[in-house]
Amino acid sequence: MSSNVSQSYPYSSETEPERAAAVEAAFAMFEGLKAKVAAETTPLGDPEPEDNGAPPRWWVWVCPKDDFKGRLHTAGYALEKHSLYTVCDTHGDTFLR
Ligand SMILES: [Zn+2]
Repeated sequence: MSSNVSQSYPYSSETEPERAAAVEAAFAMFEGLKAKVAAETTPLGDPEPEDNGAPPRWWVWVCPKDDFKGRLHTAGYALEKHSLYTVCDTHGDTFLR
């Protein structure tokens, strides 16, 4: 049976500054990624604080590709589907979550 079912669940979470930094780093590393994301997403906008006032956090997923070393960071909302659009910080690929 599949041994990586858990890979489809969030791996960890990160703060908005961490998320923004990870996405910017991926954009800097992979040519064309920023333009691709800009074309295929709507911006996240300013995240709302939680009801208890805690700063918002974003899920981080494990990239399903190859060695599972990549981490998927939220880069925007997918245009056509009601899902999050994520970018991989290791391979520069993109996934809907
Ligand atoms: Zn990847």
